[in-house]
Amino acid sequence: MSSSTGDAPPAGRRTSLETIRGIGPVRARLLGRLEIHCAEDALTHLPRRYEDRRHRSPLVELTEGEAATVSGEVVSAGVAATPGGRRRLFEVRVSDGSGTLRARWFRFRGLPGSPLFRPGSLILLYGTIRGRGRLREMIHPEVTAAAGAEETPEFGGLVPVYPSVEGLSQKALRRMMREIVAATIDRVEETLPPEVIRRHQLPGLRESLRRLHRPGRSIPVAELNGWETPWHRRLIFEELLVLQLGLGRRRCRNRSARRKVRFEWNEALVQDLKRNLPFSLTAAQERVYGEIAGDMLSPKAMHRLLQGDVGSGKTVVAAMACLLAAGNGVQAALMAPTEILAEQHYLTLRALMSPLGLNTALLTAGRPTDERRAVVRGLARGEVSLVVGTHALIQGGVRFARLGLAVIDEQHRFGVRQRLALREKGGRPDLLVMTATPIPRTLALTLYGEYDCSVLDAMPPGRRPVATVVREEDDRPLVYDEVRRELSRGNRVFVVLPLIEESGRSDLRAVREMARHLQREVFRESPVGVLHGRMPLEERAGTMEKFRSGGIAILVATTVVEVGVDVPEATVMIVEHADRFGLAQLHQLRGRIGRGEKPSTCILMAGPAAGEEGRRRLATIAATADGFRIAEEDLALRGPGEFLGTRQSGIPGLRVADPLRDRELLVRARDEAAGIIEQDQELCTPKNLLLREIVNARWGE
Ligand code: ADP
Ligand code: MG
Repeated sequence: MSSSTGDAPPAGRRTSLETIRGIGPVRARLLGRLEIHCAEDALTHLPRRYEDRRHRSPLVELTEGEAATVSGEVVSAGVAATPGGRRRLFEVRVSDGSGTLRARWFRFRGLPGSPLFRPGSLILLYGTIRGRGRLREMIHPEVTAAAGAEETPEFGGLVPVYPSVEGLSQKALRRMMREIVAATIDRVEETLPPEVIRRHQLPGLRESLRRLHRPGRSIPVAELNGWETPWHRRLIFEELLVLQLGLGRRRCRNRSARRKVRFEWNEALVQDLKRNLPFSLTAAQERVYGEIAGDMLSPKAMHRLLQGDVGSGKTVVAAMACLLAAGNGVQAALMAPTEILAEQHYLTLRALMSPLGLNTALLTAGRPTDERRAVVRGLARGEVSLVVGTHALIQGGVRFARLGLAVIDEQHRFGVRQRLALREKGGRPDLLVMTATPIPRTLALTLYGEYDCSVLDAMPPGRRPVATVVREEDDRPLVYDEVRRELSRGNRVFVVLPLIEESGRSDLRAVREMARHLQREVFRESPVGVLHGRMPLEERAGTMEKFRSGGIAILVATTVVEVGVDVPEATVMIVEHADRFGLAQLHQLRGRIGRGEKPSTCILMAGPAAGEEGRRRLATIAATADGFRIAEEDLALRGPGEFLGTRQSGIPGLRVADPLRDRELLVRARDEAAGIIEQDQELCTPKNLLLREIVNARWGE
């Protein structure tokens, strides 16, 4: 996750690797592949784990798979052939009185002549035990003479294991690391201000690095391997602090940015909308709208994240923000990651806006050229109040007369640059980003520390929880029986197929074939329809309308139904090859049913290729309806790196910290960062200078 520039230590303190004993150009290049470009980089290349080589174990006590240090006498040594006779190997037999062991090397240049392996020599071996009894062996163990081994770094202590690359053995890497640490550690300067060290009772940077590279004999190895030692925690804290300082500084800069257009308090259009809505807003929607309106009416630019589970009603809230903008004479733009989502929003918002006399337009790459040109013209002239679109909105030719509000839906699907690009289209318009993938709290602190947050934490009334079950291919007849029962009650059914990566065309074929099969061979009495992303907008809208009114009873679709399709009579959803979907996506999909009075069921078909892992994920989704829990689970399964999508987010990756494991330190670092930023936003005071260099380097400033 690290990058060479992002992690470079402050200028002026870069010691060339080749000045270190034992490192030439070849090894320097290998180290470069570990993102170690100078000796100072190496200091923060921490061991991944430690091997406990403090104890010698009698051979009889060792079981297969165990990693151990063994001390014994060489019985015999020699080069032999493998059973098939195809390769040569070097084999040494060792006895410790309790049992015997054979050590084998397939790459053994220089070993056969070594005095270490003369019969009668006493040696130490470290490796993993394979086989048992007479067949007990170690492959490529580490070896040393027993005499004086207490002093060697490889034996007799806690031995660090570093992340490495091919062509670089642990032993060689360890030796280099020892040299580098010895040569540089005394020049390490403390990076944290003294009061921070004191307040959090942290060990110094130099001591921490020294102890982590050379832990000695007395530290509990479990603490080391759990990254729980004070020295680990000190480095983790620093990394999180640097992250939080960068986020905090951005947030301050965002907040202090004044927008060009000023808002008056004109809520008339919002009130009109509320009167027209067929439902009343939930308390959560009212509250969140209030937070947004507060931002919009302040002279500073809004920078707000709106989180709300699928179906929590974010669209109406966004619509009210757009109306507040329109009521104050500025334009609003809503950007969505896909054409279908954009079209869906367009249809919804147009229905809300037109009765109020506002001009709503759609801008996507898929629309006819004339239509696109007309929209672009309308935006530049200020005739369009609200434009809904995809990436097409941030293309060069698009200009706004007075952009005052930018809304980004499913914001995590965009990169930072794209989010900024939309903002650049106007004089620092207000920014509202929305997400339906709930972000676990700790991650929200990491990833969205630069935003103010609003959460829609309640669902509109009348939602029925959706029962979710996992079914196997063998269950299919029963599944179809259940579908028949639902159809006979006048209910409707979704059948969802996964996207096939290679080409949209084969999706279309899969959907059509499934529909034909169901119509001809399974449900002859019930009209089956298809819905697919390649269908033109009008045709898709027509199909949905037929499904809503009952002209279609079974709708076979790709994930296009993920968005905005609201049919209260739809009570069953069958997801084929459910194991191919992400957890969050399955949760989104099932949000399409359970929208009426009747109980609904989501049936997840485990595909033939679903492994144990896949089934476990399906069981998770079946067991919980809570989007936040599902997100936590997804996070635990995929790891924070992928979940965070740090590359996309423009936030530096974490090397030592893990936001899940280190929640408590994360909260402390955030509070500390807030305190520092409050006094010294740009980190200019002398005590913060080193910190600033690190923050700037990590954040690429
Ligand atoms: P999401 O947050 O997933 O984007 P939507 O905005 O699409 O959710 O809303 C889901 C559905 O709930 C829509 O059909 C919308 O009309 C409806 N809805 C929104 N707010 C309310 C409310 N307060 N009461 C009843 N229905 C609502
Ligand atoms: Mg939505």
